[in-house]
Amino acid sequence: MATTPTALLTRRLGKTDLAVSIIGFGGIPIMGVSEEDAIAAVRHAHDVGISFFDTARSYRTSEERMGAALEGRRCVVATKSDARDAAGIREAVDISLRNLRRDTIDLYQLHGVNSEEELGTVLASDGALEGLHHARTEGKIGHIGITGHRPSVLIEALEQRDEFETVQVPFNVVESNILEDLVPLCVERDIGLIAMKPVGGGNFSNAPLAIKWCLNQPNTVPIPGMSRIQEVEQNAAVARGGLALTAAERAECERMKSELDHRTCRRCRYCEPCPNGVRIGALLMGRSIIQRVGPQRFRQWGTREIIASAQQCTECGECIAKCPYDLPIPELIREAVAYYETISDLAED
Ligand code: SF4
Ligand code: SF4
Repeated sequence: MATTPTALLTRRLGKTDLAVSIIGFGGIPIMGVSEEDAIAAVRHAHDVGISFFDTARSYRTSEERMGAALEGRRCVVATKSDARDAAGIREAVDISLRNLRRDTIDLYQLHGVNSEEELGTVLASDGALEGLHHARTEGKIGHIGITGHRPSVLIEALEQRDEFETVQVPFNVVESNILEDLVPLCVERDIGLIAMKPVGGGNFSNAPLAIKWCLNQPNTVPIPGMSRIQEVEQNAAVARGGLALTAAERAECERMKSELDHRTCRRCRYCEPCPNGVRIGALLMGRSIIQRVGPQRFRQWGTREIIASAQQCTECGECIAKCPYDLPIPELIREAVAYYETISDLAED
């Protein structure tokens, strides 16, 4: 039976004209908890007024769990697929509709378009974008968006095509470089900016403040990942509080940025490939995957080979020269490996 959520401030999601709660629900972590806990967290989020839910075909059980939790409830649901051709994404839309138990999906996104080559493929005739046009004409989806980790590729997408109504990208108090280019472009084009990883994948010391920072950015709706009632409560409380940042909060944001700016991997993978076969991206991303959804997802990548590849690092510095953020990559790799050694359950499935 449908329930009426309590009010939370809403924000227009760019030219989709969808009114969504100022904080959305990021759907990755619910695949790392029990089905019962996942459904309880999603329902609780809706009960406290969160009206925007984002998931993906690739988040294993996330779509089905979200569908079960939200069936019969009024809210805005977004999902995405990494299919790259028209037929593949049309099939993905049909699966998403079944999983999410809806007649229409409000927003469907091209998932993880992270290179010029991938962009060319999805924009080509018979590419995934064309497939989404068909799905929209058939009434299966309402709006079209794009997601990725490389702002330059997303900017190129928005420059080439006017169809994208939203863009989803990592955007937080540390990963804020897009304030110089992608954010103004979104404002100019009236594109909704969905901020993934608003709390840096759980690495920020003050998560509520990091979310509040996001709420102060134009066109932006942050979607922190949630899987526990306590997280839902914490995030809803931020959305209910005053949004203006005090001078002390601004200073704290600056402190978080300066502390983590040169230690935070943006998952853009410009540093790869390593000439010695070190799996840099996977090594640096695994920690945040484990923290958000547990070791299982990381194990599926082939943990043993990834961790063993770190031994091939000769500290040649080639990757550092390619990293736009000047990260001390060999040092971060050593730290990551030390972290993995503390996780007892990293044997592969
Ligand atoms: S180490 Fe640098 S270049 Fe490599 S993925 Fe991370 S941020 Fe990108
Ligand atoms: S410093 Fe290590 S990880 Fe980076 S390119 Fe050289 S060998 Fe590869």
